[in-house]
Amino acid sequence: MKALRFHGKNDLRYEDIPIPKVGKGQVKIRPSWVGICGTDLHEYMGGPNLCPTTPHPITKETVPLTFGHEFSGIIDEVGPDVTNYNKGDRVAVQPIIYDGTCGACLEGLHNCCWSNGFVGLSGWGGGLAEYIVVPTTTLYRLPDNVPLEIGALIEPLAVGWHAVKISPFREGDAVLILGGGPIGISVLLALKARGASKIIVSEISKKRQEFAKNFGAHYVIDPTKEDVVKRCRDLCDQQGVHVVYDCAGVQAGLDSAIHAVRARGTVVNIAIWEKACSIVPNDLTFKERKYMGVATYSVGDFQEVIDAISVGEMKPRDMITLKIKLTEVEEKGFKTLINDKDNHVKVLVEVGGG
Ligand SMILES: [Zn+2]
Repeated sequence: MKALRFHGKNDLRYEDIPIPKVGKGQVKIRPSWVGICGTDLHEYMGGPNLCPTTPHPITKETVPLTFGHEFSGIIDEVGPDVTNYNKGDRVAVQPIIYDGTCGACLEGLHNCCWSNGFVGLSGWGGGLAEYIVVPTTTLYRLPDNVPLEIGALIEPLAVGWHAVKISPFREGDAVLILGGGPIGISVLLALKARGASKIIVSEISKKRQEFAKNFGAHYVIDPTKEDVVKRCRDLCDQQGVHVVYDCAGVQAGLDSAIHAVRARGTVVNIAIWEKACSIVPNDLTFKERKYMGVATYSVGDFQEVIDAISVGEMKPRDMITLKIKLTEVEEKGFKTLINDKDNHVKVLVEVGGG
């Protein structure tokens, strides 16, 4: 079968590999649509970072690895003992790989597994191939009214959903989102669905400011032209916002986030930082503010996102700004996201389509 495999920095190959065999507790899927993620780009341009070069503790695999961790597909074959899924079922895959035995897993926090990995980055194949075999525990059924291409957005949407869910956000709160990229938009959609009263987005790029407005941000601020802290206080009775979601990961943004959040408010970090940053602990202490991190998604998030889309609380279709073929990932997909990222939220790759 054809697969798009990552061999190392700037080395992505469209090549023939054997079709994986389905075993107990597993299904074989024909991927339909696959989203390209910032993580994929990061690996391609400067990796391997996350992709293992020594055997991954769980998958025992190293590069070359098939890419693609944001995907939907149709079940093609089920393992000998699988009774709850059938050939033809439409599914989204939650790509977290966890050991189930470490301290974090024993608490049910699979997303924090000490050995964690991802389908499409750490082994077990990836969505950018004609077939993939995964355990049934990764599967989420798509309702009839959720198309397969929307199914490929569940993963990035679950990141924003999870961030909002485990942050102290409550319905009616005022929030600031730093960064209007795909994750910022995913946080924005989750906040709309969960009833934020005031959503302020800070974003430099003109095009991304427009995206944020179109997805329902109440206020969009250009941090190079306006004082983010002052605007947040002015918009919130001089108290500041309840929660800030940092989806940008830059020092200037973090500095304004800490001062834009009210007393006892919380700054939530979702961004993957390129390097260490500085925080003045006294800025937290004297105002009893909190700083917390969130990572990917955990039990419940995928299903809640699927339900929110199915009932119309979340309308993510406009996140798809470009569709390409499997053979075009490097030339059209990656190059577009490298050279023209401001004009795109999600690039989807049509593998099996549907
Ligand atoms: Zn674990």
